[in-house]
Amino acid sequence: MAANASRKGGISVETQHIFPIIKKWLYSDKDIFLREIVSNASDAVTKLKRLASLGHTELAEGEDFRITVSIDRDARTITVSDNGIGMTEDELSRYICSIALSGALEFVEKYEDGDKSGGIIGHFGLGFYSSFMVSDRVELHTRSYTGADAVHWSCDEGGEYEISASDKESRGTSVIMHISEDESEYLEPSRIKTILDKYCAFMPVPIYFEGEDEGESKIVNDTVPLWARNPSDITKEEYNEFYHKLFMDADDPLFYIHINADYPLNFKGVLYFPRIRNEAQSLEGEIKLFYNHVFVADNIKEVLPDYLLMLRGALDCPELPLNVSRSYLQDNAYVKKISQYIVKKVADKLNSLALNDRENYEKLYEDIRIFLEYACLRERKFYDRAKDSLLLRLTDGTSCTFTEYLDSAKDKHEGVIYYANDTALQSQYISMMSAENVKVALFDLMIDTQYMSAIEQYRGDVKFVRVDSGVASVVKSEGEKNEIPENVVALFRKIAKDEKLTVCAEALKNADVPALLSVSEESRRFEDMMKMYAAPGADMPAFPLDYTLTLNPTSELYAKLIALAGDGEVAENSKAYTYASFIYQLARLSQKKLTADELSELLSDGYKLLKMI
Ligand code: ADP
Repeated sequence: MAANASRKGGISVETQHIFPIIKKWLYSDKDIFLREIVSNASDAVTKLKRLASLGHTELAEGEDFRITVSIDRDARTITVSDNGIGMTEDELSRYICSIALSGALEFVEKYEDGDKSGGIIGHFGLGFYSSFMVSDRVELHTRSYTGADAVHWSCDEGGEYEISASDKESRGTSVIMHISEDESEYLEPSRIKTILDKYCAFMPVPIYFEGEDEGESKIVNDTVPLWARNPSDITKEEYNEFYHKLFMDADDPLFYIHINADYPLNFKGVLYFPRIRNEAQSLEGEIKLFYNHVFVADNIKEVLPDYLLMLRGALDCPELPLNVSRSYLQDNAYVKKISQYIVKKVADKLNSLALNDRENYEKLYEDIRIFLEYACLRERKFYDRAKDSLLLRLTDGTSCTFTEYLDSAKDKHEGVIYYANDTALQSQYISMMSAENVKVALFDLMIDTQYMSAIEQYRGDVKFVRVDSGVASVVKSEGEKNEIPENVVALFRKIAKDEKLTVCAEALKNADVPALLSVSEESRRFEDMMKMYAAPGADMPAFPLDYTLTLNPTSELYAKLIALAGDGEVAENSKAYTYASFIYQLARLSQKKLTADELSELLSDGYKLLKMI
């Protein structure tokens, strides 16, 4: 085409109708026009590199590929220039003037093979036209790598375009957007910088932004984001730094997982387990979704199962379309596979930390415990995968795996895991167990009751028994069964105001303890469940717990009581009564938190006894 010749045309009737739709409805978020134009520029460079690698064209030595974004406030324009593939007039007509035909599709068909690593943004794009959301006119100067004449295209917001010769000398494309009056905010450099930071921070071609300081241009992106690098070349500091930058969190994450899923899933990413400082902090994590380094969306919950929602990270999924909608993600089979893959990777990471970095893992376990327990409850499959990384924290401050615990229990209490949920209250039981070298696990969270039941069900070979839920065989001494005199049984039932109280005798290894009060594991768990499901503040329905009072015949105090009680019924104001009552109150003290009345009873019995001395 001669330099002064020009050709006029109109975007076909159908596409003219599309224009107002683009302006109003195409994207709820106008900011993305810049993402679209810059990613077209980035594609143009990627395409040229691809052609060069396939031997279709030659590049100058040390070719400096770049994209430049600049603002001219006086002219009210934003210009995005690249030195990529460019377009011939014919291509311009086909790709830009006709919306229906996506140039990317054609290119992909022609040059893309099984290897997708070049990452060409191919989608049924109206991408270029999103520039009309903020412009009343868009111009384009382009020179194809083929050496064909440069072309100029200019189109107004009504869809009327004009093609003419361009004086552009260098290869590539410049898109000049004439910003409309209503959208003047986009002429603010800070506004444009924010959009570049959000959407273009990891695009694969260096982006120079001119605008903040007159005449100065700075690279605003990191062309090789962490997820695209080889994990073995990345230090922990780099992972942490990436996390700080991406999530504005000054704390280091607890650990990270680098994901590199091959075909057919074909996605990369880095996930972080955040440090949750306090309960007030939101437990909701955040997954940023990228498409070949181009930011797509924040907070993509659909790629994680609900029990891993506290994770943070970036996923780059070139298999998903660039303009992905929530409803698309929700029922998408590919997204479900991503989610399953992530679950597997999380479990693998936990197992490897537990196995290879035990000391650190024990330290961080306290922070992740509640999440792991919840995850195990929610999904059996997660438990199956992560079971070797589950720890039991012991009352002595150490930790062990289930296998380690059960191995150590083999001789004395096979298949039984003793636990406490209140180390202060249950200290007597704990010390009796410790004296026999029995490890006691600590389960003091609300979720623990359900967690323990789930583990019992999943494993089938363990039973959790709270230290105070009976007199464990490990603390009993061998010997003949002891009978308790009838009048003593009656005495304790009267004191406990419980006709059904089971009173029995068991010789304990610790002769200092005269009596223990216990509730069976089953009955207490039932009560715990009732409490959990009761409406907050509502009165608990009266549920009689079956208590057992175990007296210890090896204790000196027991012998004294039997002597004091004599043969017949014990009178209420007698020495024997006060004595027995005090023993009962002490046993109750190690079993539960006393009510105000129970505490006064204990004190009054104590005073009475002191007076008797
Ligand atoms: P899509 O990128 O989805 O194909 P667009 O409307 O954004 O849709 O762009 C249409 C086509 O125009 C592109 O596929 C590409 O062939 C061409 N194109 C757009 N911008 C450029 C550019 N900067 N350099 C070369 N070609 C471009």
